[in-house]
Order: sequence, then C-alpha cells, then structure tokens
Amino acid sequence: MLLEVYVVLVLNLSLFPLLGLSVPRSKRYVLNPERWPDCDLTWAFRDPFHLFDNDEDYRVAKKIVAQSIRTWEESAGGALTFTDVSPHNRQSPENLERKARIDVLFARYDHGDKESFDGRGGLVAHSGYPNDGIVHFDASENWTVSDEADPDVFVDLRYVALHEIGHALGLEHSAFPFAVMNPFYRQILF
Ligand SMILES: [Zn+2]
Ligand SMILES: [Zn+2]
Repeated sequence: MLLEVYVVLVLNLSLFPLLGLSVPRSKRYVLNPERWPDCDLTWAFRDPFHLFDNDEDYRVAKKIVAQSIRTWEESAGGALTFTDVSPHNRQSPENLERKARIDVLFARYDHGDKESFDGRGGLVAHSGYPNDGIVHFDASENWTVSDEADPDVFVDLRYVALHEIGHALGLEHSAFPFAVMNPFYRQILF
C-alpha cells in the first residue's frame, strides 16, 4: 500500500523542532494494524538510480534520514531498535540491492513500483506500511534542508522524511493538527 505526500505549499520551518518533539510526549499518532513482526529494524539509505552526482549531497540526505530514524527511535522509548545497513558509499554496488526493512531512496518518474513520480510539484514522496517499508522521495523536487529556503519553491527533506518514515514504521495519519503525522502539516500557517 502506497501512501501519499503531495506538494509542499507552505511550511513554517521554524516550527519543525517543535513538531518533532510533540510526537513522543503525547500519543498523537494512529497505529496501522500492519506491524513489523519484531522490534529490531534495519534501515538503509541507498542510491540505486545514481541520482546523486556528488558525495556531499548523498551524505547530507543520508544524515537527514538517520536523524529521522533517531527521532522515531527516541520517541519509541527503547521499544524499537534500528540498525543501519546502508551501502558504504554512493558508488558501492550494494546500492543496487535492497537489504533493509526500511528502504529509503530517491527516484524519478516510473521507478518500478505501483506509483510513478510526476516531476516537480505534485507527489513529492510515498511510503509503505509494514511489511513493505519503502520510503521513496521524488528526485525531481527542489529538496532543501535549510531553514532559509523559500517554502514556496523548496520541499523540506527533514519534515517529509520524518513523516514518511513514520508510515514505514506503521503509523497512520493523525487528525491532531500539529502532529508530524498530520496529512495537512504542510498547510499549517502561523
Ligand atoms: Zn516508489
Ligand atoms: Zn502521510
């Protein structure tokens, strides 16, 4: 089952740390009935389509994924453990092979699953509940990890990664307006 994340319209970037912290403190999420069969999860960030053209961008993107994993790990209070089984670098042949339960990558247009990406705008990412575990970002977007970036132009990888990895762990959308799993988080205005 693929889940959606549509175009980021407006996102108050300064709110990001607050939104992340709000999740563990109060149970503002909904668990999908599909769960991982145990609590030891592997994850990997890889580049099977060779979409990164330099090591620095690859490193930054992987770091954001690792931070999102850590946020969920901390919010689970020890109930989940995560092991990084990522390829050693972006040119390693390991990039071509899925090994992890939570498998994170960038792709463009048709990339071999049920839902093609659509170029810039529109769909920016999708993910699957357990035991699927995919987290795919549309490489055609203008991704950023900067608070300074214009949210009308750029999509914040930090927020989308946290949200999509939440789905891959089995979380559904939350109706709570400030929760990271709220499907309309991108339209929260302050
Ligand atoms: Zn996909
Ligand atoms: Zn979602």
